[in-house]
Amino acid sequence: MVMTGPVLILGGTAEARELASLLVETGTDVVSSLAGAVPSPALPPGQVRLGGFGGPEGLAAYVRERGVPAVVDATHPFAARMTTNAARGAELTGVPLLRLQRPGWGGLPGAARWHWVDSVAEAVAVAERLGERSFVTTGVKTLPAYASWTDRYVLARMVTPPGWQVPPAWEILLARGPFDLNHETTLLRERRIDVLTTKDSGGSSAEAKLHAADDLGVAVVVVRRPPLPDGVAVVRSAGEAARWVQAQVRLGSG
Ligand code: NAP
Repeated sequence: MVMTGPVLILGGTAEARELASLLVETGTDVVSSLAGAVPSPALPPGQVRLGGFGGPEGLAAYVRERGVPAVVDATHPFAARMTTNAARGAELTGVPLLRLQRPGWGGLPGAARWHWVDSVAEAVAVAERLGERSFVTTGVKTLPAYASWTDRYVLARMVTPPGWQVPPAWEILLARGPFDLNHETTLLRERRIDVLTTKDSGGSSAEAKLHAADDLGVAVVVVRRPPLPDGVAVVRSAGEAARWVQAQVRLGSG
């Protein structure tokens, strides 16, 4: 069957928006999907749909209904459920799937001195031993993992508010990046931060905090990325993903 619908980009990242721009520029029909959790998200060019699909079966139904010829999963490295659903949805429909995932921070100069862990719970346990004033950047959904830190100063930065009453000793900072080195250095200094927890999101717009922590000798705890599903091809840049899409669209129409 010839699939004549739009290429589906599972988005919510800068790379997903970049890919949508590249494809729209070359006249490829594209629909970007966003979870709809963030108010006023940055919108990519082309069509946009919002909200969950209803699991892998819902995604498969969407792919069939719209005649999607190829799917690029360009979601955040820690959006593990959507990535698992994308792999299962591709199995159910036979639609070609590519994973676009930006490189992590493991290659940065300071990475060897950071404390690498497998979960946020582990990050909490390790950070507790390393410092007393914490900068938490693991994301709003992870905040409950820090709930036992009732007597510690915590600076927690996120895009959307926590939606629950955090301990009075905590400071919530609602902000959306990018943040530069000067900004991050000032923040760490002013709040007298001695330990930073983060996850290996990768990307240049969020990495300045790591350079600032390295410069100031602040301890760093980094949560490793969840594993990718088996058998899914992976690229690291929007340009590579655009070339893959063009090849799939040519194959599908030939
Ligand atoms: P998640 O835990 O992997 O996914 C939870 C559910 O949200 C999925 O099962 C799916 O619902 C829906 N969903 C997620 N991404 C979607 C998308 N692009 N389009 C349609 N539905 C989507 O995801 P998450 O970590 O909450 O991330 C949600 C979104 O925020 C993603 O688009 C991701 O790229 C972006 N984001 C995440 C992070 C992070 O740290 N996790 C950071 C920055 C941006 P159904 O099962 O109903 O389809």
